[in-house]
Amino acid sequence: MKRVIFAGLAALTLVGAAQAQPYPSRPITIVVPFSAGGPTDAIARAISERMRVSLGQSVIIENVTGAGGSIGVGRAVRAAPDGYTLSLGHTGTHVVNGAIYPLQYDLLNDFEPVALIASNPMMVVTKNAIPAKNLRELIDWLKANSDKIATGTAGVGSASHFSGVYFQNLIKVPLNFVPYRGTGPALQDLVAGQIDMIVDQASNALTQVQAGKIRAYAITDAKRLAVAPDIPTADEAGLPGFHISLWSALWVPKGTPKDIIAKLNAAVVDALADPAVRQRLADVGLEIPPREQQTPQALGAYQKAEIEKWWPIIKAANIKPE
Ligand code: ASP
Repeated sequence: MKRVIFAGLAALTLVGAAQAQPYPSRPITIVVPFSAGGPTDAIARAISERMRVSLGQSVIIENVTGAGGSIGVGRAVRAAPDGYTLSLGHTGTHVVNGAIYPLQYDLLNDFEPVALIASNPMMVVTKNAIPAKNLRELIDWLKANSDKIATGTAGVGSASHFSGVYFQNLIKVPLNFVPYRGTGPALQDLVAGQIDMIVDQASNALTQVQAGKIRAYAITDAKRLAVAPDIPTADEAGLPGFHISLWSALWVPKGTPKDIIAKLNAAVVDALADPAVRQRLADVGLEIPPREQQTPQALGAYQKAEIEKWWPIIKAANIKPE
């Protein structure tokens, strides 16, 4: 009996010691659901380096790709709710995916929001060999050549895919989509001339546009990008109402303790206040939300509003899962 009590006490002490470990006491993993070298991966790298300073632990990036980002998000949501596995995602993974895939998780109920990070519009870009010089000419050219055009995406249900479907429905030209595991490799193939077009995130395409390697026709926002004021908005270029904001954010699995979420949120807020991080994001057209929109509550409310806005539109488009 004495031995049983003793063993019990020892076990309790061990549990107590584990619980007493201050968070974080080991490296943290951010699951990026798209390829390395793409825009989601770039955001993860930009903020994780600065989050490490605030958290005092290294922040590792794990690229788990496939099915429009739903494989990586599924991996993160099944992790222990202890603040050591974070889900980085965006409008595609944490809004669009839910209207297309029979997901094994609920986008609103199985996650706790941590913080909104940055947003940017989509950009219609083609390889340089396409003869069109502006959006109107591109639409005419697409109408005449629709069966020959390969449009790269990051997989069914990704932001680039959904934006491409939205574009094809507006211009009433069926597009042929080519899925990749992220728009990083899709963009490489566009630059190499292997595919013809991407409706890509501004932050992914901009550097190649500025280097003259691909051509930009319009961005999906009401205002032009501060870093690329020569690229017209879709409204100006002849496609009024083609507005999509792609925003990226961090979540953790449901059940993660509130004090851990607060620490993670504070580390993101610190990163977004850091001039070097701000510059790095701004240089590629990413806009950081104002401080009051960097709270977990603001992200939760925004995600819900985006689901309410987009799901009826996506469901009406009847997109089939991969
Ligand atoms: N931006 C991509 C998308 O279309 C994904 C990526 O980050 O590669 O959803």
